[in-house]
Amino acid sequence: MNTSKLIDGKAAANHVMTLVKADVQRLKADGIEPALAVILVGQDPASQVYVRNKILRAEEAGIRSLEYPLSADTTQAQLLKLIAELNADDSINGILLQLPLPSHIEETIALQAIAPVKDVDGFHSENVGGLSQGRDVLTPCTPSGCMQLLEDACGDLSGKHAVVIGRSNIVGKPMAALLLKAHCSVTVLHSRSVNAKSLCRQADIVVAAVGRPRMIDASWLKIGAVVIDVGINRIEEDGRSRLVGDVDFESALPQVSAITPVPGGVGPMTIAFLMKNTVTAAVQQAHTQRSFLEAPCLSIS
Ligand code: NDP
Repeated sequence: MNTSKLIDGKAAANHVMTLVKADVQRLKADGIEPALAVILVGQDPASQVYVRNKILRAEEAGIRSLEYPLSADTTQAQLLKLIAELNADDSINGILLQLPLPSHIEETIALQAIAPVKDVDGFHSENVGGLSQGRDVLTPCTPSGCMQLLEDACGDLSGKHAVVIGRSNIVGKPMAALLLKAHCSVTVLHSRSVNAKSLCRQADIVVAAVGRPRMIDASWLKIGAVVIDVGINRIEEDGRSRLVGDVDFESALPQVSAITPVPGGVGPMTIAFLMKNTVTAAVQQAHTQRSFLEAPCLSIS
């Protein structure tokens, strides 16, 4: 395998974490202790793993983490009451509501209840709107991580043609907005797109966020494309369970100039950017509370 083409998400995430840790130390010296509240409703095993990993990464970064495991029969009103309490608590900087929620709770209502300044997932409409206007707001973690990987791999993205496959609110749409902000020409493909493959073949950058195992093979890619594979799909193969991306890695590798593996590509960046967002939220809130103009100096912007 040509490993020189691999975009190493683990190493990139470790680098982001090093910067986050340094910022946390600096903030603590300034009397600010960043804190993240993580709410999990129900006992979905995958969500429990994600939450545990987020708590562990927060501890590693020196961020105080508070876990709120709620039973699956928690009512929407009870959840909204907890969110309101966390919004009002000045010692909490970030609130993360682990998705998916049980079906009796309306996801949009719950996400909109989180104060935009504490919305470290960047899902509140105020942050979504701010991103689409090109403002510096709290931005969804997975697309932010993808942007970092792209900037590391390509340098200046200005003028490049980027194709995003998928238009979900958590990945595809914010990804397209971030690429646009970085001055790419952006095409977004989805399940109703016509001639998707030929459009994709024109792309300098391909971001696949579809949720279909190995859908994108070499025939979708122009020679030298840079490919970010967001997909995480569990499949049974050769009698064992394994994770694969939306890109057919073996087929794509000879065609591309750089590609993220699955696992070990985008996944680690998502949590690292959650920590970064928590630090950013803490700094912004300290500004508001202290009303000082000088920002605490951060390693990462
Ligand atoms: P969604 O199911 O919400 O969205 C999938 C998107 O893909 C939709 O916009 C859909 O189009 C589009 N799509 C489906 N089939 C096709 C097709 N044949 N051609 C073109 N587009 C198609 O998924 P998410 O955005 O939440 O996640 C996408 C993948 O990324 C999943 O595998 C998920 O597990 C992974 N993921 C990974 C993360 C990480 O940290 N690495 C974080 C989040 C997600 P339409 O809108 O028309 O239905």
